[in-house]
Amino acid sequence: MPAQLIDGKALSAALREQVAQEVAALAAQHKPVKLVAILVGDNPAAQVYAENQKRTCAQVGIAYELHNLPAATTREQLHGAIRRLNADAGVTGIFLHSPLPNGLDLQDAQYQIDILKDVEGVNPANIGHVVYGHTIIAPCTALAVVELIDSTGVALEGANVTVVGASRIVGRPLSLLLTERNATVTLCHIHTKDTPAETRRADIVVVAAGKPGLLRAEHVKAGAVVIDVGINRVRITDAFGKVTEKTVGDVDFEEVAKVASWITPVPGGVGPMTVAMLLRNTVRAAKLVHGLEQPFAGHV
Ligand code: NAD
Repeated sequence: MPAQLIDGKALSAALREQVAQEVAALAAQHKPVKLVAILVGDNPAAQVYAENQKRTCAQVGIAYELHNLPAATTREQLHGAIRRLNADAGVTGIFLHSPLPNGLDLQDAQYQIDILKDVEGVNPANIGHVVYGHTIIAPCTALAVVELIDSTGVALEGANVTVVGASRIVGRPLSLLLTERNATVTLCHIHTKDTPAETRRADIVVVAAGKPGLLRAEHVKAGAVVIDVGINRVRITDAFGKVTEKTVGDVDFEEVAKVASWITPVPGGVGPMTVAMLLRNTVRAAKLVHGLEQPFAGHV
């Protein structure tokens, strides 16, 4: 039987609706939600992302401001700009666009972001809180993957989950969130001796490697849940020699869908859910900044 599709677009739309209601409720209490994004230089992909961000925030009622800094911005100037936003009571969320121009270190800058305003969950302190099971704000894509798995109704507790890709922003924080949910996690990377053996025995496979077609049907156990984080632009030549560009994931979707029980499409899976998680984190940050939620609620 073919896999059921995990519709990230529909799930994301429902979450955005919830976010819009929460933002409206906060506004009614005179607790505005304001996200400020910093973009250093003129990277075209970051500019497109910022445009989308502006539109998405407007749709759910979040005030959005983009601070465009010149490519020649120094470390001190960038850190100063972040610290001013940290100190500004009217700013409830801070987002730093990447990549940064040469000479500026992303992690070094992320370290400056107030952990309560860190809507991407990228300050090392926030990652540290995830390690200890006291999540304040976690990275959006990792959260998106957990949310998509939960939407299937398949239990994480006791499940064998193999994550392919151990990046700082996706695979590693995801492995922590899954461990916190009592899954048994295997984290594979380029040096893993036999990644197919690890994916074949998994109840849930998450692929975040940035390699189109990496996960094939023979790498997946029948009935497994498959989450495809990859976003790759590939060139396709049709029978008439016409070349077009297409966005694909890391999973051979057509073939894997024949053996999996659930599968995410690309586009329309993890991507829209990541955006929804950013919005949800932005509301969470605003509640923390306004003192409506406590960083350690539920753990003390
Ligand atoms: P990265 O390049 O930082 O890390 C890739 C990881 O995959 C590394 O740990 C590497 O060792 C591992 N890897 C690569 N080839 C492998 C192989 N053949 N076998 C086993 N492991 C292998 O990548 P990233 O930033 O984590 O992004 C991964 C993919 O996810 C990219 O396609 C990216 O565009 C996508 N992505 C999507 C979203 C989203 O919102 N949907 C967010 C972030 C990243």
